[in-house]
Amino acid sequence: MLKTIKQWLGAAADVAMPRVCPVCGKALDGDERWICRKCLAALPRTRYEEVEFNTMEQRFAGKVPIERATAYFFYEKGSPYASVLHDIKYHNSPRMGRWLTARAVSDMAGSHFFDGINMVTAVPLHRSKLAQRGYNQSKYLARGIADALNIPYLETLKAVRPHSTQTHKGAMERWQNIQGNYALRNNTDDLTGKHILLVDDVVTTGSTLTVCSSLLKTIPGVTVSLFTLAAARLD
Ligand SMILES: [Zn+2]
Repeated sequence: MLKTIKQWLGAAADVAMPRVCPVCGKALDGDERWICRKCLAALPRTRYEEVEFNTMEQRFAGKVPIERATAYFFYEKGSPYASVLHDIKYHNSPRMGRWLTARAVSDMAGSHFFDGINMVTAVPLHRSKLAQRGYNQSKYLARGIADALNIPYLETLKAVRPHSTQTHKGAMERWQNIQGNYALRNNTDDLTGKHILLVDDVVTTGSTLTVCSSLLKTIPGVTVSLFTLAAARLD
């Protein structure tokens, strides 16, 4: 009897909470993982990797030497695709991120964007945030790429100070503030001369990526490229 009730409750839970696409809300069919076929096909790709000195690369010009930079798709606050980022970050779906970046690697195969990259690293999360959220979403994104390319993932940076609320601050003050948030780890001896791909979930102004790239660039002979899952439209 108890078993029957449990089975019934299990079936009821499936009905109440089916796997749904975070973009359109449609129930996923057996072959679909995380995002439905239709929404994947309509993903607002940036295709930055196909453009020389693209908009994202321009954000870092004159600040830090970047080899290449791309983002998989565009997002805008309130757009249906923003919920993908939100789920990856807050709703305990980091595995969706890992799956998406592996997909990005195969989608970008024709562009040579990943050529010559030796290892993948992620923008770190401060331990207070890590305790709160339970995981660093950027690490999952980075691991998806490393797995797909069959190259190592390495933690090279640490967040030494939590982000403070910066909305009331000016650009200069914000920049000075963010600069002290990150540091290199002590395991960077083997990275001399490597081409490192630095990964984060989104790029807006690029200040976090600039600080983290500058730290990586202090390692002798290191080349840095950037990948984010999404980019805010700045135009
Ligand atoms: Zn969908």
